[in-house]
Amino acid sequence: MLMNRRDWMKLTVGGGAGLALGQFVNIGEVKAEVKSLKLAGVKEFTSACNFCSCGCGMVCRVKDGKLVNLEGDPDHVVNGGVLCPKGASMAETHTSSQRLTTPKRRAPGSDKWQDISWDEAIDRIAKKIQATRDSTWVATQKDGDKEYPVNRTDAISFLGGAQNTNEEAYLINKMGRLFGTSYIEHQARL
Ligand code: SF4
Repeated sequence: MLMNRRDWMKLTVGGGAGLALGQFVNIGEVKAEVKSLKLAGVKEFTSACNFCSCGCGMVCRVKDGKLVNLEGDPDHVVNGGVLCPKGASMAETHTSSQRLTTPKRRAPGSDKWQDISWDEAIDRIAKKIQATRDSTWVATQKDGDKEYPVNRTDAISFLGGAQNTNEEAYLINKMGRLFGTSYIEHQARL
C-alpha cells in the first residue's frame, strides 16, 4: 500500500495516542461497562408489527415505562429479524400525538367522541353481543319434514389477524363456537 506524508502522520499520531491511552485504560472493559450502563433498567418484550398481514415479530425495549428501542426479532419464524421500512418506523406510532390511548364513544345523535373507561367499553360491548345473539338465535332448522337442532346465530362473526398467536387463534375459535357462530375467518384469506 502506498502512503503519502499526510497518511503517515495520521497513523503515527493516532496510533501513538491509542497506545498511550491503552497503557492506563482497558478499552474492552470500558466498552463493556458503557454497554451495561446503557442497558441498565431496560426490559425486553416481544411483539408483532401491526401494519400488514405478515405479522413480523419484534423485540421492544422499555425503560421507565417508555419504549426506547424496537427492532426485528431474530428468533421469529416469519421475518427472522428483518423489518420493512414501515415496521422499522413503528416506534413513531407509539409516541405519536395522534395515538388514541382510551376507548371512545359517540353517543346517538352526538357529533362528538367522548373518552370512556375500559370497564365501560367492555361492559357495553358485552351487552351488545348478548343482545345481538339473543335476538338472532336460531335453535332449530327444518329439512323437509324433519326439524333439527342447530343452535347458532348468523349475526356474529370473528376476524383474526396475523398478529394473533396460535394460542390466541385457538381461544378465538373456542369463543366463536361458544357464541354459536361458524363465521370465523382470518385476515390473510380475504
Ligand atoms: S414489518 Fe413490514 S412486512 Fe412486516 S408486518 Fe410490518 S409492515 Fe408488514
